[in-house]
Amino acid sequence: MRFKVEDTKEHSEFRATFVEWLGQVLPPGWIESINSGDELAFKEARSKWDIFSWMKTIGLSGYAAPLWPKEFGGLSGEAWMQQIIREELSNFRLPLAGINLLGVGLAGPTIIEHGNQAQKQNYLQKILTGEEIWCQLFSEPSCGSDLASVGTKAVRDGDEWVVNGQKVWTTIAQFAKYGMLLARTDPSKPKHEGLTYFLLDMKTPGVEVRPLRQMTGSSEFNEVFFTDVRIPDTNRVGDIGDGWRCARTTLMNERVALAGLSIDETTFLGGSAKKDPWQLFLDSIPDRSNPIIRQKLAQFWIESQVKEITTFRANSARMRGQSPGPEGGVNKVFNAEYNKRRSEFAMNATGMGSIAWQTHDSHAQDKSTRFLRARANTIEGGTSEILRSQMAERILGLPRDIEVDKDLPWDQIPGK
Ligand SMILES: Cc1cc2nc3c(=O)[nH]c(=O)nc-3n(C[C@H](O)[C@H](O)[C@H](O)COP(=O)(O)OP(=O)(O)OC[C@H]3O[C@@H](n4cnc5c(N)ncnc54)[C@H](O)[C@@H]3O)c2cc1C
Repeated sequence: MRFKVEDTKEHSEFRATFVEWLGQVLPPGWIESINSGDELAFKEARSKWDIFSWMKTIGLSGYAAPLWPKEFGGLSGEAWMQQIIREELSNFRLPLAGINLLGVGLAGPTIIEHGNQAQKQNYLQKILTGEEIWCQLFSEPSCGSDLASVGTKAVRDGDEWVVNGQKVWTTIAQFAKYGMLLARTDPSKPKHEGLTYFLLDMKTPGVEVRPLRQMTGSSEFNEVFFTDVRIPDTNRVGDIGDGWRCARTTLMNERVALAGLSIDETTFLGGSAKKDPWQLFLDSIPDRSNPIIRQKLAQFWIESQVKEITTFRANSARMRGQSPGPEGGVNKVFNAEYNKRRSEFAMNATGMGSIAWQTHDSHAQDKSTRFLRARANTIEGGTSEILRSQMAERILGLPRDIEVDKDLPWDQIPGK
């Protein structure tokens, strides 16, 4: 069951226009096959669909970023429009930004808020159309949660900066044209004050990307090494030393854009015409007459409803033009734990079939991949522990975590 905010006349007109537009740009039969649940017809329509053309089509339409100004490829719209677009994309099994989620979700909003006019002109439209893929060069081997401690250095040399250091966990760096780089430009200042934000062309000499193999078998993220990498000062975002403020914009958008996507939300390209993701999950569980399995399924169903209601609360605030409250952080932690438990249950319920499967049994393979990938949900976009601390401080009003190195010059912090 999906909780939905009642549309006003304005909302339902916008929704109808958007769905009509989808009907015009998608391969014939796409909308109809999903509306009727016709798997074969949907498979046929999907075989004529290509992610890069889709990214270009939605990128040029304004619908990919309704909140962005019209002059940079958006609709200069309101949050409820974004909400409706997301609902309908999910209904029709479509991704918003394809593999450029970090560009559309993180880099774009940061450039809009802190970039200059030339940067907006140069980058925003190509982010939306997927012509230029972006990655996020923040985390380092010795700092992820404590991001303000990053040690990659950028030293000014005339009109350029010379960068040396290392990043890690950099998702899709191997395909990216640009990276959002957070670097230390003044090690004598306290950690939050000596940082500057740059836009880095990943093809610059001295940038080396080394893919890391995950336990799922794929190489989603990378190590990135910088050796005397030169960045023109024109690629600096915001003032020198103002990198932390710019990075916070990126991080806030990260929570909204991708962190803790639920299992249900990630099934959009699963190749099924079924609109109800819960039904998809249910169908994949064998032996549903077993009372223990039934009990567990009932528990997951209850939790999925609680999650839906929390999402509904945030969405309904957006539809009324208000900012959502703490639901985002709460749902990020909840989703991450829920994904982990549910994927583990699906593995156990399937038994040996989820460890050793027939070559073409994509469902069994999918279960195993989800089980392994769900571990990352509690880490990416801020760990569950860090988010729980933030909730304790910001929602419950508990005292702040002790941070002994906050006011020390960065180069006097032990180990730096
Ligand atoms: C799939 C995936 C993709 C990622 N993609 C990117 C990317 O594209 N770009 C990028 O820059 N980064 C990326 N990251 C990195 C991610 O942001 C960091 O892994 C995350 O912030 C945690 O940092 P860390 O790995 O250094 O762990 P640490 O910060 O070292 O934490 C280790 C453990 O200690 C706990 N801990 C740390 N500090 C505290 C505290 N104060 N209180 C309580 N517990 C604490 C943490 O919760 C965690 O359990 C990605 C991570 C994953 C898993």
